[in-house]
Amino acid sequence: MDCLFCKIASGEIPSKKIYEDEHSFAFLDINPAAEGHALVIPKRHCRDIFDAPEAELQSLIIAVKEVAGMMKKLGYEDVNILQNTGKHAGQIVHHLHFHVIPRREEDGIFIKFPRIHTDDASLDAAAKKLLSSKQEPEEMPKEKPRKKEKDDWEDLDW
Ligand SMILES: [Zn+2]
Repeated sequence: MDCLFCKIASGEIPSKKIYEDEHSFAFLDINPAAEGHALVIPKRHCRDIFDAPEAELQSLIIAVKEVAGMMKKLGYEDVNILQNTGKHAGQIVHHLHFHVIPRREEDGIFIKFPRIHTDDASLDAAAKKLLSSKQEPEEMPKEKPRKKEKDDWEDLDW
């Protein structure tokens, strides 16, 4: 497979390796946002999180924590852990990867998302939409809604 990150994980293309375990591999980004900016990848080719087997995903997040821990030990106060899935989300190399970026106060890095002004009804509608995409009739049998009385507070689920 002609994949840059597969070649890096196999050693065919040299990289600045900083971590490796059975399933995962981490190396320095050649265009770092900050010194030590690392990429953590599964060794096996996975396009994105939807394409990755559970074992790879589990190993990957532990590797991400290891790499972030290395930065913390060097005195970085904080880290950004970023993952882009798909080209519209900014994924450029189509081999699953997490960016781990060491952060310090006033380091000049700005990661900002535009925020949409919303209201409670819109949030309810968005949550309902997402929940409806998850519900499978055989997975989540629908319980008959019980009619609640006005003084039935003790039975309410919060
Ligand atoms: Zn690959």
